[in-house]
Amino acid sequence: MAPIKIDHVAVVVDDLDSALNFWQNALGLPIGGTEHNEHEAVEIAFLPVGESRIELLKPITDDSGIAKYLAKRGPGMHHLCLAVYDIEAAMAHIAAQGIQMINETPRTREDGTRYAFVHPKSTGGVMVELYELKPSN
Ligand code: ZN
Repeated sequence: MAPIKIDHVAVVVDDLDSALNFWQNALGLPIGGTEHNEHEAVEIAFLPVGESRIELLKPITDDSGIAKYLAKRGPGMHHLCLAVYDIEAAMAHIAAQGIQMINETPRTREDGTRYAFVHPKSTGGVMVELYELKPSN
């Protein structure tokens, strides 16, 4: 039931090209994929690092949660994502200990993978995402 690995570390950026200038050009990380997520109103670039990934998030509207976060706190680290095999079991385990979730039920990405966020008020200030990994991955 405990998380398996750090799936990704997410960074909010105000400009994807200048962010890639560091993460891709200066560090030499490859771009593993990009995604246009209408649901969260973000443009995403994933850069694999070993078993984990850096996730760059750029808001595409002014009124999304991430856009507000960027306006209030500026660019920087946004959340840490831990992979779990059974997201419902992980969420139930966390909730049973009085930890506050942002999402009461898992949300689903376009590729079918499920995720949910734990509220930073309950984690000591770090937004934590749980991401369901299929055992075959
Ligand atoms: Zn994430």
